[in-house]
Amino acid sequence: MKDILSLTREELTEEILALGEKRYRAEQIYKWLHIKRAYAFEEMSDLPASLRSTLRENYIICKITAVKTLISKIDGTRKYLFELSDGECIETVFMEYKHAYSLCISSQVGCRMGCKFCASGLDGLVRNLTPAEMLSQVYEVERLTGKTIGSLVMMGIGEPLDNYDNTIKFLTLLSDENGKNLSLRHVSLSTCGLVPKIQELCKLRLGLTLSVSLHQADNTKREDIMPVTKAYNIDELIAACREYISYTGRRISFEYTVISGVNDSKEDAQKLSKLLRGLNCHVNLIPANNVTETNYYNKKDSTRIFESYLLSAKIPVTIRRTLGSDINAACGQLRRQSAE
Ligand code: SAH
Repeated sequence: MKDILSLTREELTEEILALGEKRYRAEQIYKWLHIKRAYAFEEMSDLPASLRSTLRENYIICKITAVKTLISKIDGTRKYLFELSDGECIETVFMEYKHAYSLCISSQVGCRMGCKFCASGLDGLVRNLTPAEMLSQVYEVERLTGKTIGSLVMMGIGEPLDNYDNTIKFLTLLSDENGKNLSLRHVSLSTCGLVPKIQELCKLRLGLTLSVSLHQADNTKREDIMPVTKAYNIDELIAACREYISYTGRRISFEYTVISGVNDSKEDAQKLSKLLRGLNCHVNLIPANNVTETNYYNKKDSTRIFESYLLSAKIPVTIRRTLGSDINAACGQLRRQSAE
């Protein structure tokens, strides 16, 4: 059975027409799913009973269930553990920042990129999320909190560009004016650097912010912490970033997790400054968060010191505020978990 929530408005219309129904029925169904957020076809009271039963026979409506919620005592950040229909679990983080609400969603169950400092890929990739499973994280958190999500980051579990087609469909659904209608200007997509997919993405000119997880400007050293570098080296990655900037006119945000003794030396900063000089970009420093299974850590002040090196080289840089660290909701701490 097909998941009706994964169909874009265009696809849904085609399918409804193919069932011999009128076009406006597709509009009604889309509204039930994406505005009224119906979980059952029975709720769709303005559809004839016969159409409701045809829908029931042919489609399911994705439903994810919050099986655990952790609330940070420090900043109110909420981490949800959602169970999917096949029993797999993913995490979603809800944050409040300056009275606006932001959501960090997962794009895969697990991850196969193998970055050494990240908890999300410790068990490898289990499977991709469907567009509906990505969208349901937004809808379900809005239902549970009663708040409207104003911005979204694809920085949870998984590599969104390794699940490219579903990610694009999800973004189409998210920004559809007859649905959630979230402008992609309020969306950031983070990638560890899948070059061909960055090249494909830029041609769509979506208007979202591309965040590139760089973490090291030296190729050999980056290979040690990010195996993806062996497939696409730093020169190729920066060339793809240039292409992205020229296609979209948007600046790139580079993420740099500051790991003591690994990538936080003055030379590391100089190499990074040289690499990024003249590029329309911004560097976001993330103090490395502790992941129990890894030895990586962040010494007090090392992020500030690294920031000062970049500032003196006139590279635009900020330090990311860490939210939800007491509930393991910060960057790199999300992982696949069982519901027990
Ligand atoms: N796969 C995508 C999405 C993950 S985003 C990507 O790689 O960009 C999460 C961000 O947190 C990435 O920049 C990631 O490299 C970073 N991160 C991973 N582990 C971390 C840790 N232990 N401390 C701080 N940041 C970490």
